[in-house]
Amino acid sequence: MIVMKEGATPDQIRAVVNRVESVGARAHLSEGEIHTVVGAIGDREQVANLDLEGSPGVDHLVPITRPYKLASMQFRHERRTVIDIDGRKIGGNHFATIAGPCTVESRDQLLDAAHTVKEAGAQLLRGGAYKPRTSPYSFQGLGEDGLRLLAEAKEVTGMPIVTELMDVRDLDAVLEVADVIQLGARNMQNYTLLTEVGRAGRPVLLKRGLSATLDELLMSAEYILKEGNTDVMLCERGIRTFETGYRFTLDLMAVPVLKELTHLPIIVDPSHAAGRRDLVPALSMAAAAAGADGVVVEVHPDPEKAICDGPQQLRSEDFASYLRQMEQVAEIAGKELASRV
Ligand code: PEP
Ligand code: MN
Repeated sequence: MIVMKEGATPDQIRAVVNRVESVGARAHLSEGEIHTVVGAIGDREQVANLDLEGSPGVDHLVPITRPYKLASMQFRHERRTVIDIDGRKIGGNHFATIAGPCTVESRDQLLDAAHTVKEAGAQLLRGGAYKPRTSPYSFQGLGEDGLRLLAEAKEVTGMPIVTELMDVRDLDAVLEVADVIQLGARNMQNYTLLTEVGRAGRPVLLKRGLSATLDELLMSAEYILKEGNTDVMLCERGIRTFETGYRFTLDLMAVPVLKELTHLPIIVDPSHAAGRRDLVPALSMAAAAAGADGVVVEVHPDPEKAICDGPQQLRSEDFASYLRQMEQVAEIAGKELASRV
């Protein structure tokens, strides 16, 4: 990491970038309020041999010791990434709620849920058109019809859409409607998908794999970041442990630990971790108290009839009071609430 001097000129910065690129390394620019930082990703020896220390405009060099570079806190000089999705801010001191049904099932179901979460004050609407299901015989999502319904929900509510992409062949269709592309737990290490989504440049919600370590999650984020896509949020959604009393174990320790390791926003999904709606409020409040930058939570107008994940989806009628409780905790944790700004 090459930290430029305060007041380094554009020509000096360009000269450093050119020298980094001349040895086949990639240069990633990060412009701070005071310092511009050039991240050089490539062969450490070759970059070191450039002897950049002392070059015009260069203040000092910092080796990034972590295996992930662009995702590391060091790279951003302690500045946290704040993602702006059509005016909704995620990260920094903002708290965001992403809510909606597990799956897009029908026009009525989606619009009903969309109005509920919007009126309660959620910032983004979630809903899957492509669903990763354990059984190939289970409902796999409405596909392009689901995307069309999401587009309609976006039009009538004005809410940005978060929806999952599973297959790169659906990328263009998903890009038509998604403001945030969700990469699911099962695809966290689908490296070709990560690269393509990195190139697409759309904000990404990257979910932690069922048995992935935090380093593996950060390395997956690195695949997206290295393509020049800086708008990545990480999502803890429960991991596999020996405990069978609930669906997954929500690893809340991941929240403060990730916040130490990375500048990227950290979102928590209490719904998929718990698999039971009665646990969702407590887990959500705990996530907010632990410093999460937001939650992604499932809400359905009639969960008994839900095609998928019925038992964990909050009932529409309970969502507004759930969100008020959440916001109180987020506020105590020092977050600014979009609904009050
Ligand atoms: C989802 O959010 O709809 C989902 C399938 O989550 P995960 O990938 O975390 O299981
Ligand atoms: Mn679900």
